[in-house]
Amino acid sequence: MTEEKNSLNNDESGDNSENLDFIRTQVQEDQTAGLNDGRVHTRFPPEPNGYLHIGHAKSIVLNSGIAAQFGGKFNLRFDDTNPEKEDIEYVDSIKEDMRWLGADWEEREFYASDYFEQLYEWAQHLIREGKAYVCSLNEADIREYRGTVKEPGRPSPDRDRPSEESLELLAGMRNGDFDEGDYTLRAKIDMAHSNMKMRDPLIYRIRKVIHHRTGDTWNIYPLYDYAHGQSDALEGITHSICTLEFEVNRPLYEWFIDNLPVPYKPRQIEFARLKLTYTIMSKRKLLQLVTQKHVNGWDDPRMPTISGLRRLGYTTESIRRFCDVIGVAKRDSTVDLDLLKWSIRSELNMTATRYMGVLRPLKVVITNYPEGQVEDIECINNPEDENDGTRTVPFSREIYIEQSDFREEAPRKFFRLKPGKEVRLKHAYYITCDEFIKNDAGEVVELRCTYDPESRGGSSPDGRKVKGTLHWVSAAEAVTAEVRLYDNLFREPFPEAEGHFLENLNPNSLEVLTDAKIEPNIKDVTANDRWQFMRHGYFCLDARDSQPGALVINRTVTLKDSWAKLEAKLPKA
Ligand code: ATP
Ligand code: MG
Repeated sequence: MTEEKNSLNNDESGDNSENLDFIRTQVQEDQTAGLNDGRVHTRFPPEPNGYLHIGHAKSIVLNSGIAAQFGGKFNLRFDDTNPEKEDIEYVDSIKEDMRWLGADWEEREFYASDYFEQLYEWAQHLIREGKAYVCSLNEADIREYRGTVKEPGRPSPDRDRPSEESLELLAGMRNGDFDEGDYTLRAKIDMAHSNMKMRDPLIYRIRKVIHHRTGDTWNIYPLYDYAHGQSDALEGITHSICTLEFEVNRPLYEWFIDNLPVPYKPRQIEFARLKLTYTIMSKRKLLQLVTQKHVNGWDDPRMPTISGLRRLGYTTESIRRFCDVIGVAKRDSTVDLDLLKWSIRSELNMTATRYMGVLRPLKVVITNYPEGQVEDIECINNPEDENDGTRTVPFSREIYIEQSDFREEAPRKFFRLKPGKEVRLKHAYYITCDEFIKNDAGEVVELRCTYDPESRGGSSPDGRKVKGTLHWVSAAEAVTAEVRLYDNLFREPFPEAEGHFLENLNPNSLEVLTDAKIEPNIKDVTANDRWQFMRHGYFCLDARDSQPGALVINRTVTLKDSWAKLEAKLPKA
């Protein structure tokens, strides 16, 4: 995290000379040197086999940000070369999430499958040039022949197959004349290359599956390494930015570009993928959480997906800001999940109205308050923003406070309500607890209190001090809602470190409270609003499950600020 923290990128600053991360430095150098006629063109190449997650956001913000910063273009390209796992549902969700993130691909939406014909022609070109051959080894043999890091590989018996024969076999493969696994097309590079990726890598394999766009047109599908760079080249991509694990693939990326009559010569640059504590980012594993119902879908608010974070209450700005703060680095590191939480908490601290919501209600009867009377109490909307004004909240004889704000027997330092003690009701009055009533199970179900009419507004009439200030809600006017409280999905900071990640699931990652009592102003909030429930954190409506008259509310983030120390060192939101 440390080496990344300093590389803040501000696209809006207009000053490109400072704070450039290593990729932007490279792009700037290329542009200054007139490479590609000074053009800058990036892309985001998701495989439509899952929903986008926060790691993808890092790549999207980086790629679209570079295009914007250097007057360039930005493409969205679906890397749909792996038909088994791909689906139109994922295509649609990816576009929705990218739009929400504010990434603008301006109609430049492409699919690797658009290039299948061209890729096939280029494969024929390689064969004719003696740089590719159809191989009959099966998967296990190919692996065995490839050798090891220490030992060179052995040539396939088909390595010197005449071009004519390979061309014919390739046509048969395409045509569906053979079974899966019978043949592959391989590049003829170097079976003794120190980089294993260069030992005659696969170009095509037979797959008799339906593709979500090309249907049953194809019986062969290109491998990622072959399709990706050529797609970049066809689109005129100048900087093909990918994650670090593709560093070893770069020589192969360049080999294809150098050996094919491509119209453009893109350059691959790698950066460290985002890793977050208490989070898994592999789409395969996220899919497993969904299909095995450990979560309620890809957009479950506990998921690290963009749709999950959106449903949890994250804003576009907070995620973009998080991406800016973590920056880009060449070395792998893991970012503290608290930094992501900080990004939304610090924003909402400035923007969110402070409502009163009692999550676990305890009835309080104020015995000396006139029956039937309701008065309006003026409440400050947001102490961080004086322009946000005030609102009124009804106060009456029967109110709710939080169960945890009363203790029958409390230690001296418990400054909330206890028998015989006085507290302040926020913005309202001082009350003193005279009595408490228990049910048969011995639980306290009601308090009987008296208020001091002189303490209106919550200020002391005679200078006497009360330490505790409680939030409250008038019982008759309260809105009952379901509130969902979330905790980290995993118990351990590195959920994959030991054993199975599923064993690390946090059994308490979701707590549902069905009888929360909320001040009536909650009726005015809309799907896009976020607010604070005083002393509880920041909340929003659950966009999927909330109905008018049956509110479902998600806690976006708590107030607890373990990040406070770091925050002091970070730039102001
Ligand atoms: P998985 O390994 O789980 O399948 P992926 O990286 O293969 O994920 P893609 O859909 O291929 O998923 O990713 C699209 C783009 O997003 C790629 O360019 C990839 O490098 C980038 N990306 C994926 N995960 C991260 C991450 N954690 N941090 C930064 N960029 C990422
Ligand atoms: Mg991938």
